[in-house]
Formats: sequence, C-alpha cells, structure tokens
Amino acid sequence: MKNIKDYNLEELKQEFIKIGEKPYRAEQVFKWLYTTNITTFDEMTNLSIELREKLKQEFSICVFNIIKKQESIDGTKKYLFDVLDGNAIETVLMEYKHGKTLCVSSQIGCKMGCKFCASTGIKFARNLTSGEIVEQVLAVQRDENIKISNIVFMGIGEPLDNYENVINAIKILNNQKGLSIGARHISISTSGIVPKIYKLAEENLQCTLSISLHATTDKKRSALMPINDAYNIEELMKACKYYIEKTNRRISFEYALAKDNNDNLEDAKELVKLLKGMLCHVNLIPINKIENGAYTKSSNENIIKFRDYLNEKGIVATIRRELGSDIDAACGQLRRKNLKNE
Ligand code: SAH
Repeated sequence: MKNIKDYNLEELKQEFIKIGEKPYRAEQVFKWLYTTNITTFDEMTNLSIELREKLKQEFSICVFNIIKKQESIDGTKKYLFDVLDGNAIETVLMEYKHGKTLCVSSQIGCKMGCKFCASTGIKFARNLTSGEIVEQVLAVQRDENIKISNIVFMGIGEPLDNYENVINAIKILNNQKGLSIGARHISISTSGIVPKIYKLAEENLQCTLSISLHATTDKKRSALMPINDAYNIEELMKACKYYIEKTNRRISFEYALAKDNNDNLEDAKELVKLLKGMLCHVNLIPINKIENGAYTKSSNENIIKFRDYLNEKGIVATIRRELGSDIDAACGQLRRKNLKNE
C-alpha cells in the first residue's frame, strides 16, 4: 500500500483528487501528520468516518517502532528503528545551543565504501523512501515530545545516491503547513557525486551543502574514498564553485583528521590552496575509530594546529564537537543493523 508520508503536499492533493476528494482535505491530513503526534487515520477527528475508512483503504501511515534507544553521557540519543521490512536504521538526536538537530539516514547501507566509515562493509539493502526519511523525524519527535529544528543528512547512506527521495523529503520537511523546518536548517552531506551536485544547484533550495573532502590530493583521497576515482578533486571543486555561484550559499567542507595520514601541515597548506577565495567553511572532525578500522584520531594538539593554520590563512575552520562517541553515535559510526542478525 502507498505510504501517505511519501507525498509532498502538492502530490497529496493530486492523490486526493484522483480518489474524488477535495484538495483541502489533503491539507487537513497533512496538518495532522506533521503538526501533531497522531499515528492513525482514526485520530483525524475533523474528517468524516467515511473518509477515514476510505483513506485506510488507499494509504498506510508508516510508523517506526523503536528497537533500541541509547543515551550518551553528553545527552546525545541514538535510535535504532525497525523500518518494517526486516531492516533497521540508525538516527541520532543531538542537542545544541541553537536547537535540536537530527542526523537522519538516507539509505539502508551505503555503496560509497569510504575506508574510515562504519557504514562500509555492510551490504547495501535499498534506498529509504521520502516517507521513511521523514518518519525518522516524526518518530523522534513523538518519543521525546520535542520539536526538531535542524536536520543533517549525515546518517547512513549517501543522500545524493538517493536523490529524488531526499529532495522530496526536504520538500515535506520544509512545508510551512507541516513540520516547517527551514531549508537553511537542513544540511545535505555528500561524498562528492559530481553530477548530482550540479543538479542540486538547480533545485532552488536554500539548504546547506556539505562536502566530505578529507584529503587534498587524488592519491590520498582515492585511498580513503573510492568515489574519488569516479570524480576527482578537480571535478569536485569545479562543481562546488558552480554550486556556490548558482546558489550564493556557503559550502561546508568536512575534513576528518586521521593520525599520520592527512593531518600534517603540508595537508593544511594544500587545503588552503584548494579553497582559497571560495565562499566556504571547513569543519574539522577528529576521526572516530571504527571497529577494526585502520585510522586513528589525530592528536588534539595537531587538530588545533591544523585549525589555526587554516584560520591564519583566511579559511574559516572549526573543530566539530564530538557527540555520542560512547554509544557509537558519532560521525561515521552508524551502521545498518539487520533485525534478523540482532
Ligand atoms: N554519505 C554522506 C553522508 C554520511 S557520512 C557523506 O559521505 O558525506 C557523514 C560525515 O561523517 C561525512 O563527512 C563522512 O565522511 C564522515 N565520517 C564517516 N566516517 C567517519 C569517521 N569514522 N570519523 C569521522 N567522520 C566520519
């Protein structure tokens, strides 16, 4: 059956017209779904009982069950959701001064194969639908009785490898008649699928683009991220410049520092050369060691040196606060968990 959360408001109105209902009814349903904590058609009390029955015949409402919830000493919460087909995904809630940020997954597994990431090495199962992306937000809001203010597509999966569903999910999250999460409060993080960066530039969305760069030479980047063999640094930077020109939005470059790998002054110098003059920001992430991983965290001293060098040279750089590492909820630690193997 069709999951009603897969439709943005315009599409839902069309669906309602198809079944002989007025578009304003779709708007009423949309409001129930995204501005309240209800999970069934029967709770939509301003609809007639006949209409509720009809909707039950036409649509399902996807509602995730929580398999496991872990809380970190820093307040970060990690959810393992049952996505109702035998698969499970992780979603992370983080508290910042400026609000509550949810790190959502876009796929069940990931095809990118980045060497330092825990989502690698698990078989890719499938893309998440728009409704399943949105349901991560709703499920956490219901569980905690809170309102999420920021979304980052930094969970499991490569969002630009599930392009249509991610864009549609953003349209749903963004809609002022629903969750009303401003596009500027939504970040898409990509390993660098160049054609999709060009496509995203044309969407006229105001969301933030984060690029997982992590290295400044093709040799080093390819060793960390196989995607670099398909789209090298030069092509990637060209796409980024186009994106900035087209959207006038600042790009955030993510750079995970691994000890004795990409964290010395030479790397910082190359990074300055690469980013000089661009409207951008660098997010330095102390790399999180994953189970059996080859990469270990750069020393704090080194990380600070790296940041200071970039700042000195006019590249705005900050060190990302590590949240949730004690519950394997920090950057790159999320992995698909198969219910059957649990
Ligand atoms: N596929 C997307 C989004 C998911 S990963 C992407 O590649 O951007 C979110 C961020 O965490 C990316 O910048 C990714 O490179 C980074 N990351 C992955 N594993 C990590 C690790 N072990 N330590 C620190 N950051 C990591």
